[in-house]
Amino acid sequence: MRTYNTMSLAELSHIKIGGNTKNLFFPENYIELNELYQKYHHSHKIIPLGGCSNILFGNVDNYILISDKYLPWIFSVKKTDEISQLRISPNMNINFLIKKLAEYNLGGLEFLAGIPAHIGGLITMNAGAYQKQIGDYVSSIKIINNNGIKVLKQSDCDFLYRSSSIDGFIIEITLNVENINKENVLTIMTTNINKRKLSQPLNMPNLGCFFKNPKDDSAGRLIDSCGLKGYTIGDAMVSYEHANFLINKGNASFDDMLSLINFIKERVRDKYNINLELEVKVINE
Ligand SMILES: Cc1cc2nc3c(=O)[nH]c(=O)nc-3n(C[C@H](O)[C@H](O)[C@H](O)COP(=O)(O)OP(=O)(O)OC[C@H]3O[C@@H](n4cnc5c(N)ncnc54)[C@H](O)[C@@H]3O)c2cc1C
Repeated sequence: MRTYNTMSLAELSHIKIGGNTKNLFFPENYIELNELYQKYHHSHKIIPLGGCSNILFGNVDNYILISDKYLPWIFSVKKTDEISQLRISPNMNINFLIKKLAEYNLGGLEFLAGIPAHIGGLITMNAGAYQKQIGDYVSSIKIINNNGIKVLKQSDCDFLYRSSSIDGFIIEITLNVENINKENVLTIMTTNINKRKLSQPLNMPNLGCFFKNPKDDSAGRLIDSCGLKGYTIGDAMVSYEHANFLINKGNASFDDMLSLINFIKERVRDKYNINLELEVKVINE
């Protein structure tokens, strides 16, 4: 197992916020991962980490953080004329995966192109875009938690808008993918990445959309109509390009970001009587 005396969580998180911790582990196989669960589940809350593109780190003293980075790499494809199946490990970056599938004339996941995330994190969050969600492509997953290893079918995961009931560390995933010509996959991928570049502040540290969209509305629209684009606390700012993206202008602290989150929620509640719910996972206390 790779361990470090201390490691900066800001280096891991896509928003570049987080202090030093000794509670971060990098297992290199499932035996080590299982041992971490057995050792710590009584005393700490255990948090699996993927690409850290949706996690805001505060005080993590009461947590054990386990990265997927050095877990074994799995990639195998079973191709049929109808639908094809893919077996993969959680630690694969989605953009790498889409390109790799294209080599086999397989696709379907291009709606996620441009997201800096791993497939394990995307499934736990049931990530989505353009009216599609990754949970619909899941056939089954294998998890480790304090009860050992378990296989879950898609129907066991309770995939809802940006959530699932997965309670453990995903170590293996079986996905249903579509037979699509390589050129088509790469064209859709490029189109989707370009759309993101036009509407999202991708050159600044961020975590994607901070708040879930309320039913039949958009959190970005609500925040924008409260006049909050550009609103700044410390170095935490509401993006001008997309009001549901909060960005780190340089040295934003966890407290800056939390104050900005609370301010936005208050303003939207006052104006619309709507309680915005966080999409981002805040790990604190
Ligand atoms: C620029 C940008 C654009 C984005 N666009 C979108 C978008 O269009 N749609 C969308 O839905 N999201 C989007 N996001 C948010 C984010 O990428 C997703 O929530 C994604 O699912 C997070 O994946 P991750 O690997 O980074 O997970 P992390 O941020 O590391 O973790 C997210 C959650 O998943 C859990 N988790 C991670 N790995 C595992 C595992 N192996 N087993 C069990 N649990 C695990 C974590 O504990 C945590 O609860 C965007 C983010 C950014 C920065």
